[in-house]
Amino acid sequence: MTQIKNPLELYKLLKKSNCRECRLPSCMAFAVAVIQGQKQLADCPYIDRETLQALGGGIVAGRSSREDEQQQVLARLKQEAGQIDFPAAAARLGVQLRDGRLGINCLGKDFWIDSVGDMWSECHNNPWVLIPLLNYIIHGKGRKLSGEWVAFGELSGAADWNRFFSRRCEEAMGQLADAHAELIFEILHLFGANPAAGVTNADQSLVIFPLPGLPMLINYWAPEDHFASKLNILFDRTATDNLTVESIYLLGRGLVEMFRGLIVKHSRDGKLF
Ligand code: SF4
Repeated sequence: MTQIKNPLELYKLLKKSNCRECRLPSCMAFAVAVIQGQKQLADCPYIDRETLQALGGGIVAGRSSREDEQQQVLARLKQEAGQIDFPAAAARLGVQLRDGRLGINCLGKDFWIDSVGDMWSECHNNPWVLIPLLNYIIHGKGRKLSGEWVAFGELSGAADWNRFFSRRCEEAMGQLADAHAELIFEILHLFGANPAAGVTNADQSLVIFPLPGLPMLINYWAPEDHFASKLNILFDRTATDNLTVESIYLLGRGLVEMFRGLIVKHSRDGKLF
């Protein structure tokens, strides 16, 4: 029996006419609903009998893993991104529009998104980054930066996320910097980071742009004598006008995940610690 685990796999088997006879706005929405256990395959009158028989109970409903959940969110966002007005989005966000595709610079590399929500880029093909990027395109207000740096916990609506951000982003990145300082700062420079002179007294202060309207200031104090190291990440006061708190948290996690992957690949012994 064929087993389908994510909406994209199921979508390929649908008619793709977006006829709405299943009472959902599109075939992609239907695929997501089936994977989430909210709809039955038979609710689409255009699925042929052979496909129904081949799949039988082979749909893995519910959130079976973090990857499946991310794929479902990605599929939904891609569909939403495909429905927005691209010229208006380019003007709102101040980004490129070329051959009907939106061009967004993310960590020093261009991403291109077309009218059905498909994306191309030279790198960063990582759901931790792709989900915030699509949210930015769909919901970002393109607010002008204020120049005022604040901690994550000071951002509007961030109180509930602060503990997670502190542990999984700042502490996790700090541990990687302690073990691989040279490599981490080399990678940050490859991601387009620039020194932020005179903002703090940190040993390293670098500004990176995971998204055009969302700079992050990464400050690192190396361990010294009896003092432990410290790493914090600051944001422009306007950050939550351009991206939701959850997506900002995901971007922080994305950076940590990318660092981990690159350290395993490029460090001398291939070990994180
Ligand atoms: S009824 Fe089937 S073909 Fe029509 S929108 Fe729903 S899933 Fe797509």
